[in-house]
Amino acid sequence: MTGEISQLGRGLRTGLDTDPRYSSIVPPIYPGTNFAFTELGEAPQYEYSRSGNPTRDLLSEAIVTLEGGVRGVVTSSGLSALTTVFMAMVRQGGRIVAPHDCYGGTWRLLSHLSDRGIFTVDYVDQTDADALATSLRSPADLLLIETPSNPLLRVVDLETTVAMARDAGVLTLADNTFCSPVRQRPIEYGCELVVHSTTKFINGHSDVVGGAIVASTAEAGEQLTHWANVLGLTGGAFDAWLALRGLRTLDARVRVHDANAADLLPTLVAHPAVQRVHYPGLPDHPGHQIAARQQSSFGSMISFELAGGEAAVRAFCRGLRVFDLAESLGGVESLVAHPASMTHAAMTPETQLRAGITPALLRLSVGIEPAGDLLADLIDGLERAAAAT
Ligand SMILES: *Cc1c(COP(=O)(O)O)cnc(C)c1O
Repeated sequence: MTGEISQLGRGLRTGLDTDPRYSSIVPPIYPGTNFAFTELGEAPQYEYSRSGNPTRDLLSEAIVTLEGGVRGVVTSSGLSALTTVFMAMVRQGGRIVAPHDCYGGTWRLLSHLSDRGIFTVDYVDQTDADALATSLRSPADLLLIETPSNPLLRVVDLETTVAMARDAGVLTLADNTFCSPVRQRPIEYGCELVVHSTTKFINGHSDVVGGAIVASTAEAGEQLTHWANVLGLTGGAFDAWLALRGLRTLDARVRVHDANAADLLPTLVAHPAVQRVHYPGLPDHPGHQIAARQQSSFGSMISFELAGGEAAVRAFCRGLRVFDLAESLGGVESLVAHPASMTHAAMTPETQLRAGITPALLRLSVGIEPAGDLLADLIDGLERAAAAT
């Protein structure tokens, strides 16, 4: 079809060439909080920026296009996106089925809200179809899916999982933060809702905290837009403008992220200081076939366990020159995190062990720096870890 711009191209180009006043190629930013009525009773398209803002709507439109959804909501963080979904879509006293190894902040949010009696939560290993089927036998309002999961990169089969939820009459929500819509689009597998922490790959430059929800129906989109305003969880215009700028390079960044991750893997797999590597691109990873089917690439998040335990972890982290020891992921800068003491510290030790998070586990978010620099830094770190073992 000549003349048609692809879905990816349309998403990445959202809002370009739309400035009627000066023909600026990039859209202007509207940081204003309020908009004038033309007359008494004649409301403008936007009234007040908590309920609606043109810059925020452009970011929403871009993410909706990339995910293949119908309507979106841009929120102040990934967690406020999840909060909005939980409050809008789960009945008082309802039930949520969540991954046993979900993102630590999501686990804390779910456990605090369930402690308040707002709903109950059942944590299930969703790679175990029997466990999931058992959980879905009890009435539930929402199934939260994270694939690949954080930090162990377990892969959940979207097609079969969504089908099980649909048979049980349960709404599905995929947290697609780890893949971003250029690697995986859960709505294509029948998922009703998608959330993002735009803090990660979508913005990609570690300078905005933000979130987004994508709905696959207009009704759900309407309901979520209403609730984000009611709860006051919508995002700011400057943040939306920055995230939209970041999003324009998402596809290009992800290709370099993935190539760099592939360059580090042989060393990680072969090095004697490494006990185990968790990466869906490895043929012996239990979710390899599923990831190959539902993702367009295996991603740039790699977790591994060091043979020398905590002493080796300390030695690895001390002296890194390119990788920063930091939380978060998906930015252009390479990071290493220690899930047990950092990203997943909010989990109880028992929950950590159940999720497979040991003190020897490290998680890499591979950035887009020169691949040789990353490899040299990794090798030096592994040598230090070996010497400390
Ligand atoms: C970071 C993250 C979140 C939370 O997003 P914030 O923007 O930090 O609130 C939720 N889910 C996943 C998978 C994440 O990585």
